[in-house]
Amino acid sequence: MDKKFIDDSHKYLMNTYKRYPIVLRKGRGMKVWSSDGKEYLDFVGGIAVNCLGHCHPKVVITLQKQAQRLLHVSNLYHIEPQIKLAQILIKLSCTDKAFFCNSGAEAIEAAIKLVRKYAKEHTAFNKFEIITTYGSFHGRTLAALSATGQEKFHKGFEPLVPGFKHVPFNDINALKKAISKSTCAVILEPIQGEIGIRMPAEGYLKEVRHICDKHGILLVFDEVQTGVGRTGKFFAYEHYDVEPDIISLAKGLGGGVAIGAMLAKDHVAASFQPGSHASTFGGNPLACAAAITTIETLLEDGFILDNCRRMGRYLMKNLERLKRDFSFLIVDIRGLGLMVGMEITTHGDAIVNACAERGVLINCIAGNVLRFTPPLIVTEKDINHLIDVLEDVLGRIP
Ligand SMILES: *Cc1c(COP(=O)(O)O)cnc(C)c1O
Repeated sequence: MDKKFIDDSHKYLMNTYKRYPIVLRKGRGMKVWSSDGKEYLDFVGGIAVNCLGHCHPKVVITLQKQAQRLLHVSNLYHIEPQIKLAQILIKLSCTDKAFFCNSGAEAIEAAIKLVRKYAKEHTAFNKFEIITTYGSFHGRTLAALSATGQEKFHKGFEPLVPGFKHVPFNDINALKKAISKSTCAVILEPIQGEIGIRMPAEGYLKEVRHICDKHGILLVFDEVQTGVGRTGKFFAYEHYDVEPDIISLAKGLGGGVAIGAMLAKDHVAASFQPGSHASTFGGNPLACAAAITTIETLLEDGFILDNCRRMGRYLMKNLERLKRDFSFLIVDIRGLGLMVGMEITTHGDAIVNACAERGVLINCIAGNVLRFTPPLIVTEKDINHLIDVLEDVLGRIP
């Protein structure tokens, strides 16, 4: 059964993903099932997307109801769920206005366009340069790719979009040196995701804010991965006592439905006027309705965010215990909430495959960091199972 699907997958799909030989068909909560009926505990969670777990009943019902009412209309008209979602996000954040799109890369593209336009309108000379960090990930479209500070993603696609400068993450002096008269913005992930869960050094984000203020530079936080409760607060920046001017969101925002958002402070957002930017599908009724229910469910009673914080600590504590037992293999455990990485001394692929055989899905980033981004509803029992499986798998490594 699966073999036929997988053969057809190779035959008909562009080879942009190195996929595991698993065809996923159904999901509920923490679990997914493959087409041949095997059950998996999902610690990938669509890579920080399925924040409420798979097919959360409230999200499913919202989608059914909205699908019967209205699927799509043009942004030439006002759209009820879009207005309501904007209101919710603005209330939760330090920003004042929202723009909706369909993905993380699009949210970053929107931010790049906005900071450039803002700079053109507020300075006499041509201010366009954007500073980002090495190891960052901002998406695959050309400007988002140019913002991404990892050469391996650039290879073959040059020339990139001009006007991006990269500096080491957590290096304030490098940032100070990189700033010039043409710098208009700094784009940062509060916690770097794809490079292997890299935490900001104590005081780093605050210093960056301070420097941006001093030079009249806008600060953009790419919260595509860290946002929507992933770190135990709705936005990761809330942990660090610093406010950005612009925020990008996507991944968890729709609870599994594709939606992105770019949020900005009023004076910045004012640089977008009719014609500046647009998206046919951005802010469509279906995706916005899903996002509203996702956020309302996530924040109801504070239970899920609290669970995220507690389970994040529980997971890290147990991984630390594994680290003591496998000190030759495990180098570091890091993360916040349920965005957790375990750096190992070897390539992670074999471990990921062995876990999948035992019915647990995890993934490996940057070659040697196992990443855990499960739904925020994960339980102690689920984590215990993950740890048992990891212990068994690591114990068999010669
Ligand atoms: C995943 C990710 C993106 C890109 O999002 P897409 O929806 O894949 O375009 C951008 N920034 C960060 C921090 C991400 O983790």
